[in-house]
Amino acid sequence: MKCPHCLNGFHSDKETKYLGEDIDGDWSVTYEQCPECKKFIIELEQNRANLQYPKKVQAYPKGVSRVPIPKDVPDKFANDYKEACLVFIDSPKASSALSRRCLQNILREKAGIKKGDLAGEIQQVLDSNQLPSHLSEAIDAVRNIGNFAAHPIKSTNTGEIVDVEPSEAEWLLGVLEGLFDFYFVQPAITQSKRDELNKKLGEAGKPKMKSP
Ligand SMILES: [Zn+2]
Repeated sequence: MKCPHCLNGFHSDKETKYLGEDIDGDWSVTYEQCPECKKFIIELEQNRANLQYPKKVQAYPKGVSRVPIPKDVPDKFANDYKEACLVFIDSPKASSALSRRCLQNILREKAGIKKGDLAGEIQQVLDSNQLPSHLSEAIDAVRNIGNFAAHPIKSTNTGEIVDVEPSEAEWLLGVLEGLFDFYFVQPAITQSKRDELNKKLGEAGKPKMKSP
């Protein structure tokens, strides 16, 4: 299994503690410890005579685990993303609304587009050819997967909570991760390489490289 905290893969070896029975059924707690980050992964399990399988809820950590969020992503974007991950399991609708709002904020701030509705903003970004093709396709698909034609409110009022499929909520998180990398992580890497090179050029008495 994959550790939901650190995403390290390891051989699962769960232990179960039986808590007892109430009018809703039998309750137990299943847990194990990740050998890498040493954190517990805890599940609450409910069993009833009429259930074919026990109901399981991941109690700790809460929410879906995705890649750790890079430090170069500004808080105003990172916070919406983190919250979208946190509520994902309990409410894909709320998660999607947060992700759509975050997507719109990134495009408005980083892609240099004119404000409109999200569908139009996505179109502007695609037309500007500024994104690598895998990201253009992923963003384009946001409109199709979300069926913006049938649910225009998703486009005109991005933070509105409307019915979505869990796959749509997940897709949006993946799109945000791709944009974080493109707009924040890669430029920061390039900048630090440029700084390093300029330091060396300076030491050698040569002219520095210009920023774009
Ligand atoms: Zn771990």
